[in-house]
Amino acid sequence: MTNTTIADAAWLSDKRLQVLLGALNEGEEEARIAGGAVRNTLLGQDVTDIDIATTTTPDETIRRAEAAGFKAIPTGYEHGTITVVADGKPFEVTTLRADVETNGRHAVVAFGRDWQQDANRRDFTINALYADAEGKVYDLVGGLKDLEDRNLRFIGEAEERIREDYLRILRFFRFFAWYGAGRPDAQGLKACARLKDGLGSLSVERVWSELKKLLSAPDPHRAILWMRQTGVLTAIVPETEKWGIDSMVPLVETEKALGWEPQPLLRFAAILPPYPPRIEELAKRLRLSRAETATLSAWAEAPQPSHETSDKDLRQQLYNHPQEAMLMRLRLALVATRQRAMQDAEVLKESAGLQRQIEMAETYQRPVFPLKGEDLLSLGMEPGRQVGEVLRQLEERWVDSDFSLDRSALLESAKAKAGGT
Ligand code: ATP
Ligand code: MG
Repeated sequence: MTNTTIADAAWLSDKRLQVLLGALNEGEEEARIAGGAVRNTLLGQDVTDIDIATTTTPDETIRRAEAAGFKAIPTGYEHGTITVVADGKPFEVTTLRADVETNGRHAVVAFGRDWQQDANRRDFTINALYADAEGKVYDLVGGLKDLEDRNLRFIGEAEERIREDYLRILRFFRFFAWYGAGRPDAQGLKACARLKDGLGSLSVERVWSELKKLLSAPDPHRAILWMRQTGVLTAIVPETEKWGIDSMVPLVETEKALGWEPQPLLRFAAILPPYPPRIEELAKRLRLSRAETATLSAWAEAPQPSHETSDKDLRQQLYNHPQEAMLMRLRLALVATRQRAMQDAEVLKESAGLQRQIEMAETYQRPVFPLKGEDLLSLGMEPGRQVGEVLRQLEERWVDSDFSLDRSALLESAKAKAGGT
């Protein structure tokens, strides 16, 4: 096919993988590594999971995997996918397919022995590369050239491919974010813009999962920009429409400059209005996880930072809001300030102030209020709602003292209060 090889890839010489490929390859059958693993290796990027395409039928895949001493789990039996677990390492093994019919979401598949057909039903040319057990690369759709050019291109006619599965619109921008360069393919872009209404037919879980993967790319800002340009972003996250996406560029720049770990949720927050009711509505609509919803809601509810906030006030805010939410607020405020600082030297001072606040928030240890209900009872207060009320008042006084009142001072005030009631 080509002289291209990935023989040097460390993961390829994994004994378990070689044993599995050997078992699948016996006789007239043929198995190859497919998709992401080949693509990422050629790009010099990490390979996380390994997908295998094979001519063996699912039943035969199970038989051979078990004969080799591995576990075979029929994770997607109807589509021909068997997960083979070899000494704890999972491999997704899928029988070659030829789609015979599609209805926009579900493909009716037939098993085949034709590598060209199997390549043709994949989404993008760079996702349809194969490699055999020796690392020899097979390119049946022009994927190598596109990979070299960082050109994300649909296999076949873009509109037709999107009508088969509207998720491919989001996958187009996701893979562009990760592997594309320059301008996205014009045909693909036009097709995405024209067919964006089909996104409404997808399950929201698939939409959010794709969006999160896009937001995890090293630099998703151009993909986001093109998503907005085509109306795709507004179709799935209308909240971004009026608010704008201008923060994405300085956020990624600041991540790099200050060594922040990229966080998909922070990037998402950067293009969302921090209004609690709208955030709640969005979280419900996209069915964000409980933890994701809590994070975004707490972010929306946290106070808008300012470089003029005193350390005392900041400590109070940190006491009253989740640390993660405060850090998100502070980081996005710093990003906005750095964006302005590029034009105005005065703003640099504000940005230094916010950076110091972020350090404070990062190392913040929430102090524990030194009094408990029992303390008031032992001062002779009657059990009841009053105890909680007095505790709350004392806690407020303690927070107001910048957490400096100690236990004995608080007990003194408690005594006065207990006496007075
Ligand atoms: P990664 O796992 O790094 O996100 P990947 O290329 O492995 O990238 P997957 O979503 O795991 O992507 O899919 C594996 C392969 O299956 C893809 O490379 C592609 O060839 C094919 N594929 C997956 N989803 C689709 C789809 N919706 N339409 C067509 N082909 C698809
Ligand atoms: Mg994969």
